[in-house]
Amino acid sequence: MSASIVYHGFGIRGYQYERSFYEDGTVTFVISQARDRLRCPRCGTSHVERRGEVTRAFRLLPIGRRPVQVVLDVARVFCERCWITRQVKVGFADEYRRHTRSFERYVLELSQHMTVKGVARHLQISWDTVKEIQKRHLERHYARPKLRHLREIAIDEICVGRKRFLTTVLDLCTGAVVFVGNGRGSDALKPFWKRLKSSRAKIKAVAIDMSNAYTKAVRENLSDAVLVYDHFHIIKLYNEKLTGLRRDLYREAIEGLHKEVLKGIRWLLLKNPENLDPKKRERERLDEALKLNETLFVAYYMKDQLRLLWSQPDKRTARQFLIGWIQLANFSGIRMLMSFAKTLAAHREGILAWYDHPISTGPLEGTNNKIKTMQRQAYGFRDHDFFILKIMAIHEATYELVG
Ligand SMILES: [Zn+2]
Repeated sequence: MSASIVYHGFGIRGYQYERSFYEDGTVTFVISQARDRLRCPRCGTSHVERRGEVTRAFRLLPIGRRPVQVVLDVARVFCERCWITRQVKVGFADEYRRHTRSFERYVLELSQHMTVKGVARHLQISWDTVKEIQKRHLERHYARPKLRHLREIAIDEICVGRKRFLTTVLDLCTGAVVFVGNGRGSDALKPFWKRLKSSRAKIKAVAIDMSNAYTKAVRENLSDAVLVYDHFHIIKLYNEKLTGLRRDLYREAIEGLHKEVLKGIRWLLLKNPENLDPKKRERERLDEALKLNETLFVAYYMKDQLRLLWSQPDKRTARQFLIGWIQLANFSGIRMLMSFAKTLAAHREGILAWYDHPISTGPLEGTNNKIKTMQRQAYGFRDHDFFILKIMAIHEATYELVG
């Protein structure tokens, strides 16, 4: 009965079953290896001489909630060819491991539904053991993604803690994270360019924000690729300017009522009109405030107009539209608008390139949110490499994201 459990239940073949016992809540199977099966771990020859042994225990799948282990005297052999003395290979476990391969698969399966902590508690093993098993699996599958097939990518940075940044590159066709660099700006991307070069991928288009660092890095390393400035970032930047403008106006306002009104619409200015909540009378409150302040009214109206840049029928019309917007901004005499118009003019081609390659860093946003969830759990800081590997595997969502 026990012998057949070892063979069929735990997948241990090629060993002899000796005995089993139950002690301190743990089921133990003792097995042995026949002398004629001993091989050199390096060259595989059977011309070896036995030189003692090491007793080793390996974790097996539990029976119910009871931990199970298999104990084996692993022979040390002297190889006549290699002239070395080593432990023979163990057929059911990887080198240096204290659990079987089937146990490892079981941990990975549970990891799809449970946190590292949950799996560790359930199997009565340490948090680190679970983490190491996951880490080895992630390393095998995600550490070096193939870049050759890349065509359209998005690059963006994410803040993961105080002044700590990661730069991520996303394959826009598959949604996979293909690179995570430490820090931000061009330095963070250096290892990526190196790998990309050796992959000989033919990148057609890259979505980035309007920062000089990324623009320069992409131009230098992907001179043939089309640069597309992400429209979400452009609106986000506009919103930041709008917030600054409201703050300035608030500071300048003397009248009590005027001040109150400006204060109350802080968040409403950033919302898209279609998202204003009718139940809270947000539209009315915003209109009231805008009526009181012409500058703010114009700036808000211009944002609404700017958003339409990405819903023109074609690139030619979009170009005319952008020129019109820039002119209007300059006519307004509002400093914030004029400076934004200048920025748009300087990045014009990259903005309009969206009509040739309608890509954005939008998909990275979802990834970044998941990273933030992981990061909130704080385990990322205990093992940086593990954290990065988890990010690389994010799109497959094979793991619980929390630690
Ligand atoms: Zn050998």
